[in-house]
Amino acid sequence: MTSVAVLGSTGSIGTQTLDVIRSNPEDFSVEVLAAGTSTDLVMKQIEEFKPSLVVMANAEASERIKSEFDSLQVYHGKKPLEKAATQSDVIVNAIVGFAGLPVTLSALHAGKRLALANKESLIAGGPIVRKVRESTNAEIIPVDSEHCALHQCLRGNADNLNGPSGPVKKLLLTASGGPFREWTKDQLRQVTVEDSLNHPTWNMGPKITVDSSTLMNKGLEIIEAHELFGIGYEHIDVVVHPQSIVHSMVEFVDSSVIAQLSMPDMRLPISYALRYPERSQGSWGEIDWGTLNRLDFEKPNEDMFPCLGLAYEAGQMGETAPAWLNAANEIAVESFLQGTIDWMQISEVIQMTLNECDGNLAEVENDIYAADKKARTIATAVIEKL
Ligand code: MG
Repeated sequence: MTSVAVLGSTGSIGTQTLDVIRSNPEDFSVEVLAAGTSTDLVMKQIEEFKPSLVVMANAEASERIKSEFDSLQVYHGKKPLEKAATQSDVIVNAIVGFAGLPVTLSALHAGKRLALANKESLIAGGPIVRKVRESTNAEIIPVDSEHCALHQCLRGNADNLNGPSGPVKKLLLTASGGPFREWTKDQLRQVTVEDSLNHPTWNMGPKITVDSSTLMNKGLEIIEAHELFGIGYEHIDVVVHPQSIVHSMVEFVDSSVIAQLSMPDMRLPISYALRYPERSQGSWGEIDWGTLNRLDFEKPNEDMFPCLGLAYEAGQMGETAPAWLNAANEIAVESFLQGTIDWMQISEVIQMTLNECDGNLAEVENDIYAADKKARTIATAVIEKL
């Protein structure tokens, strides 16, 4: 029996993780749940999964839970959350955005398996996460369909990756292209929040869905792939594939390409991360080869979707620059969702914020928090001036 901490249990990945556990009660138990303020849903989850520890975002939410479950340990805030990230065999980090960084660091410090859906922590905290990972040898299994695909293509094929003796030539990240793949510039000027939340192939939370519409999600995934697999940016390419059946590919030095295909359902990457190196006996949907009559591929249009180029730029700058990119993006997406800026301005805000990046080194954890804070202040000021 594998014990699991589901941190971010009420979001899209959190609820799908519980779905995987619900289907395999003999293999997994829920030890910890952590969530923001959705107390009603958390209470239902407590009744069903009977965790021994619950962490909420604030005192009001934790008091409400405590009043219903008097024998349960319920806490709130950052310190208990960090502690919760050390309390199970597998830690699922499904928290949204930069707020997931303490969970990532804490799980790795404890030498736990981290099933990582919170890509932002790896992007913003890259250099620090790398050090902790090396010192404890803790394992990160990505809960991101593309990186799960890369993980599957690489395992057994490339124990050492690229470089003079490595067999890998390129990582090919696939992108659905989002809802605006075929839109003109004029149409893109008129994008509404509703348009951007209407993803063609994946059903996800609002932040990542907007990121997919700008291709910033793919930009962040380029940095994520670099951090996870230690491959240089010049060896990571993006390929647009609208059907979302090929989840990513690895090209080897002999130009042989290995791809991973499956139906677009996040429960596959989740169960892969929970069970690795074994595989789930049940499936989350088979490809119907009778109806799947084509798979298309094309190059991304970087003129229409400048976020992709911005991510390469920040990734190549390294150190705290990806933390700036991530912070500016979080602020810009939030403002877009609130109606303060329009869709085209998301990339403008990120570009203008990144122009101010001080290039500080990321040597200790606080360097990341400082960079994040400074970039947020600047991005907010940029938005006020627009
Ligand atoms: Mg993804």
